[in-house]
Amino acid sequence: MTDREQLTVTAPDKTEQRVVLHGACVSHGAAEGRVLCVYGRKRQYFFQRIENSEVDSEILRFERAVSSAAKQLTSLVSQPPQNSVPNASEIFDAHLLILTSPTFTDGVIEVIRHQLVNAEWAVKLACDEQVRRQKNAASPELRERYLDIIDVAERVLSHLGGEDSPNLQIDKDSVLVAEELRPSTLLELGDNLPRAILTELGGWTSHTFIMARELGIPAIAGIKGLMRSARPDDPVAVDADRGLAVLNGTVDDDLTSSSLPGTTTKPTGGTAAAACVVSVNLDETSKFNEAFELGATGIGLLRSEYLFRHAQGWPSEELQVEMYSQAIAAAGGRPVRIRTFDFGIDRVSFGGMVSERNPALGLRGVRLGLAREPRLRAQFRALLQASVNGPVQIVIPMVSGTDDLTRTRAILDDEYARSEAAFSDIEPPRFGTMVEVPSAILQIDDLIRHADLACLGTNDLVQYTLAVDRDNGLVADWYNSLHPAVVRSIALVVESANSAGKELVVCGEIGGSPFYIPLLLSLGVRHLSVSISSLAAVNETLASVDISDVHDIKQRVLGLETAAAIEAELRRIYLERWPWLVASAA
Ligand code: PEP
Ligand code: MG
Repeated sequence: MTDREQLTVTAPDKTEQRVVLHGACVSHGAAEGRVLCVYGRKRQYFFQRIENSEVDSEILRFERAVSSAAKQLTSLVSQPPQNSVPNASEIFDAHLLILTSPTFTDGVIEVIRHQLVNAEWAVKLACDEQVRRQKNAASPELRERYLDIIDVAERVLSHLGGEDSPNLQIDKDSVLVAEELRPSTLLELGDNLPRAILTELGGWTSHTFIMARELGIPAIAGIKGLMRSARPDDPVAVDADRGLAVLNGTVDDDLTSSSLPGTTTKPTGGTAAAACVVSVNLDETSKFNEAFELGATGIGLLRSEYLFRHAQGWPSEELQVEMYSQAIAAAGGRPVRIRTFDFGIDRVSFGGMVSERNPALGLRGVRLGLAREPRLRAQFRALLQASVNGPVQIVIPMVSGTDDLTRTRAILDDEYARSEAAFSDIEPPRFGTMVEVPSAILQIDDLIRHADLACLGTNDLVQYTLAVDRDNGLVADWYNSLHPAVVRSIALVVESANSAGKELVVCGEIGGSPFYIPLLLSLGVRHLSVSISSLAAVNETLASVDISDVHDIKQRVLGLETAAAIEAELRRIYLERWPWLVASAA
């Protein structure tokens, strides 16, 4: 953290200078509020004032976190993780010394007591101060040790966010401002949601912003220099539709007006509406009715990670039964497709025990399920038990080969065989695979054979095919869903599923973008599952297109060499046939 950040928090320096920031709209809408800066990467936290009466309990919370971090370090000293470096024991021992040194612990306690701030913030301030001193040490060897201090502080922060941590509380008018906002941070807020979100990193397909759109929170990402410009408590006006945020600005009329690109008059009654099924992707169950009212025919993808909003750590089997049953009942007989937990080990390793250099390539999705088989079994049992309320389809995320499918299916079959006696009226669930990594594309016929249905996850498919982090604004220009490799991959998957007679649902965000719809239809897609905020536009688009007009698009774009060429060709075709689609993509 910079010195300036410390200063602004302990003594907010209100220059009240109007600063206009620009970024990309990642969730539509407009809002006004006050800046709440979010810090930290692994475990995120923010500055909170506490009352005098809360000082003792805050100190106790900190001391508990220190003592569980110390227990963890002690056991790592005696039993360092396998495959770690030869001197791992000594490193953990050094961390234990830092953790238990009065410089650190007394430093934090003093900050809590005198500055009346939450423990997380006090750890940050004490750590910044120690790091600053360490960086000034005379010996280069000592200077390098500052990373160990940061490591210890991160470990304590993880424990502060442990199972007994209170739900994060934020003021009603908060606008979250972060370098990058983790989905789990948003989940931890529960119903206590911010007015808007501004970040330096992240993009349209980041999970955080998929959730923001579902929750109706306006958001802008890719704002350069945001953390340097924003100070805690600054008034801020956000017009996400235009990618504009104004700090310390009186709200101009033009900043509050919503300015979604105008949709020119479109015809209705197009035959594509009847040819293509539209369902909804959801991260929670409270929006089911709204989605059905907006024309969704079923739940195309329920991201079961939403349960982590209701539980810290792995949700219990009982809670899962209750939540899946509610979801199935709320769907009232419409199809419900529930995806097993799709996240990485960091999410369930609250002690900060496991850290991965490349989480997107790490122990996540189906891999985490297989590595923690009892957890996967519990999820399958809960899904089976909930299916007494109606049929459910199960989808496995991050499948990279047939092994992932055959192993998970064997586990599901085993749980089904065991539960069948107890729930004789349970239909065997349909079993689906996510298709979202390049190896799955190259082996698509094999995967399709092992599954009853497939869900094409284009958000990840683009990320992994093009090797572009979907959450990294710095490479957003390379995240191109019209890249020929992506378009050809989609074509391969659709052909494979259609010729095997298996259902294929396109679940990525591209399905929610009107500009892609004729292209997808031409490639043979007949089922789109889109976020709730896209439902109306998708249905309107389908109603404005005749299916007989899309057929030649595939052969006109499939041989093109660049994304720009594909986009230009689509624009040419659309301008002739569906000019309103070009206007809405402007
Ligand atoms: C996808 O990857 O396209 C998808 C639908 O899943 P998620 O966005 O949850 O990764
Ligand atoms: Mg995915």
